[in-house]
Amino acid sequence: MAWDALNEEQREIRDLVRTLARERIAPRAAEIDESHEFPWDVVELFREHEIFGLFFDEEWGGSGTGTLLALVAIEEVSKVCATSGLLLAVQELGSLGLKLAGTQEQKERYLPRLASGEWLAAYALTEAGSGSDSAAMRTIARLEGDEYVLNGSKRFITNAGVANVYTVFAKTDPEAGHSGISAFLVESEAPGFSVTRLEPKLGISGSTTGELAFDDCRIPAAYLLGEEGEGFKLAMRILDRSRPGVGAQALGIAQGATDYALEYAKTRETMGKPIVEHQLIAAKLADMETMTEAARGLLYRFGQMCDDGVDGAELTKASAMAKLLCGDVAMQVATEAVQILGGYGYIKEYPVERMLRDAKITQIYEGTQEVQRLVIAREMARESRAFLLAGVC
Ligand SMILES: Cc1cc2nc3c(=O)[nH]c(=O)nc-3n(C[C@H](O)[C@H](O)[C@H](O)COP(=O)(O)OP(=O)(O)OC[C@H]3O[C@@H](n4cnc5c(N)ncnc54)[C@H](O)[C@@H]3O)c2cc1C
Repeated sequence: MAWDALNEEQREIRDLVRTLARERIAPRAAEIDESHEFPWDVVELFREHEIFGLFFDEEWGGSGTGTLLALVAIEEVSKVCATSGLLLAVQELGSLGLKLAGTQEQKERYLPRLASGEWLAAYALTEAGSGSDSAAMRTIARLEGDEYVLNGSKRFITNAGVANVYTVFAKTDPEAGHSGISAFLVESEAPGFSVTRLEPKLGISGSTTGELAFDDCRIPAAYLLGEEGEGFKLAMRILDRSRPGVGAQALGIAQGATDYALEYAKTRETMGKPIVEHQLIAAKLADMETMTEAARGLLYRFGQMCDDGVDGAELTKASAMAKLLCGDVAMQVATEAVQILGGYGYIKEYPVERMLRDAKITQIYEGTQEVQRLVIAREMARESRAFLLAGVC
C-alpha cells in the first residue's frame, strides 16, 4: 500500500468522500458551473452522508474526527467541483465563531443544526469599502433594551440567500477602531435583514456571493457572539482556522487539474508519440505534481497542528503559509493544465478551463495572497534567529 499521512480510520472516511465526489458530484460539476445555480442536490448528498458532521465535535452531532480529516474532505470534493468543496469550507467558516466564542445556549441552538447540514452558515466581514482593511467597516450595532439594532451592509458574502445564520461583524463603538468591533449571530428571518443582490462572477459559479443589508435589523441581545469589542480578534481567530479550508479547496483543484492533464497527455499524440513523452510536457507534469505535493505537506501540517491543540502565533503563521502556497499552486497548476490540453484546454467541453477560473478565487478570498504574505512576514519579524548571526561572527 502507498505511504499515507492518514491513519486507517481517516483513510476510510476519505475514501467514502472520494467515492461520493467521483460518482455523485463529478457528473454534476460542469452543469453547476454552467447553470450558476446553487447545488441544493449536493447539500442534500452531504446531509444524507453526514459530511457536514466532519467539521463538528461529537457533542453537537458531528464525527469529532478533527481538522486534518475535514481539510481532506474539502480537498477530495474540490478535486471534482470547487463550488461543492466551498459548501463545506463555508459551513466551517460560518460556524467557527460559535465554536470559539459561543455561549452554551448559542451552541445548543445552532451547532447541531449546522452539523447535520439542516442549516447553512455564512460569515459576513467584508463591506464595499473594507475588504483587506476590515477594521474600516461601517456597519454599526446599537444596544436598545434587550435587542441590538444593526444598520449597514456587507458585500461579497458567500452563501448569501441560502444561509440560515450569518456571523456578522459590526461596530458597537465606532470611535474605538479595532476594539469597537463586535460579532453577532443574525438569522435570515431577522426583521430588517435582506439580501439585496447576488454577484455574477468568474468562477465557483454555483456558490452564491451577495450583498447583505441591515436596515434597523433587530436581533436579541443574547445573539452577541463573545464580548462587546472582541469581534475583531474573533474575526481573525476564525480566519486563522478557516483559511486552510480555502487552501484545501485550492489543493483539490491543483490535484484534479494535474490528474486530468496527465491522463490527457498519455493519450494525445503529436509527432508520432503521446505528448507525455515530449520532454517539455513531461517537465510541466513533474513540476505540477511536485508543487501540489509540497502544498499538501503544508496544508496537512496545519491540520495536524490543529489536532494537536497548537494555537496562537504559530498557528496563525502555519495557516497563512498553507493558504498562500495552496492558492498559488492551484493557479499555476491549473494554468499549465490548460496549456497541456492545448486548444482543448480552452474550451468548456474539458474541465480544466473551469478549474483555472475556480482557482483564481483561492488567491483572493479569506485574505488575499498579499495579506497572507504580510501575516507571515509579521510573524517572522517577531521571531529571533540571532543564533545564526552569532554563528558567523
Ligand atoms: C467570490 C467571493 C466570495 C467572498 N466571500 C466572502 C465571505 O463569505 N465573507 C466575507 O466577509 N468576505 C468574502 N469575500 C470578500 C473577500 O474576502 C475580499 O474581496 C478580499 O478580502 C479582498 O478585499 P477587497 O476585495 O476589498 O480588496 P482590497 O482590500 O481593496 O484589495 C485590493 C488589492 O490590494 C491589495 N492590498 C490591500 N491592502 C494591501 C496591503 N496593506 N499591502 C499590500 N497589498 C494590499 C490586495 O491584496 C488586493 O490585491 C468574498 C469575495 C469574493 C470575490
